[in-house]
Amino acid sequence: MSFNALGLCPQLLQAIEAQGYSTPSPIQQQAIPAIIAGKDVMAAAQTGTGKTAGFTLPLLESLRHKGKANNKQVRALVLTPTRELAAQVAESVANYSKHLPLTSSVVFGGVKINPQISRLKQGCDVLVATPGRLLDLYKQQAVSFKQLEVLVLDEADRMLDMGFIHDIKRILAVLPAQRQNLLFSATFSDDIRKLAKGLVNNPVEISV
Ligand code: AMP
Repeated sequence: MSFNALGLCPQLLQAIEAQGYSTPSPIQQQAIPAIIAGKDVMAAAQTGTGKTAGFTLPLLESLRHKGKANNKQVRALVLTPTRELAAQVAESVANYSKHLPLTSSVVFGGVKINPQISRLKQGCDVLVATPGRLLDLYKQQAVSFKQLEVLVLDEADRMLDMGFIHDIKRILAVLPAQRQNLLFSATFSDDIRKLAKGLVNNPVEISV
């Protein structure tokens, strides 16, 4: 199996090649076609499995296709439990999208909010965020979800462990009902299944 068989555009394949990846990992082989097909996905995958590229690459492929000119609002939102993970995921998004006309940004707490507000004003297709800071920005009307097409919860089990369930619910309540949902978690505990029930529709389940 090669990346060429997964339905990714030449610009993404070029970015993958520059990373030096030759073969898609098992989670990438399963997740990439399902996400491009527009399905909701529930994936059990630990760090180190290539999960980040597993959702980032198809996300970018989908946004590229449905690309709207001059859109300034967030079209894909990736929620992560920590700023370290947010920064890592954002770096991957920036890296894989470097040959595409898509923009991305990252917001997390513990740093000044005003530069993040200015950055969001310039427009952003893919936003990577931690839940608390995202809610602060939403309350200040620095971010709109009216154009949101895809939601990713990355390391959802850690988000629940860290007590983010209420923040997540507040965020879900202000997103458009019609959207694609991707849930990534190291394990599927009862709590994760409960969260998934109100989140994903008829998901493709992936376990690696
Ligand atoms: P992740 O599980 O997303 O944290 O990724 C773990 C590491 O694997 C990262 O350093 C990626 O750059 C790398 N990686 C992701 N996909 C591949 C691939 N298909 N081939 C080789 N390395 C990869």
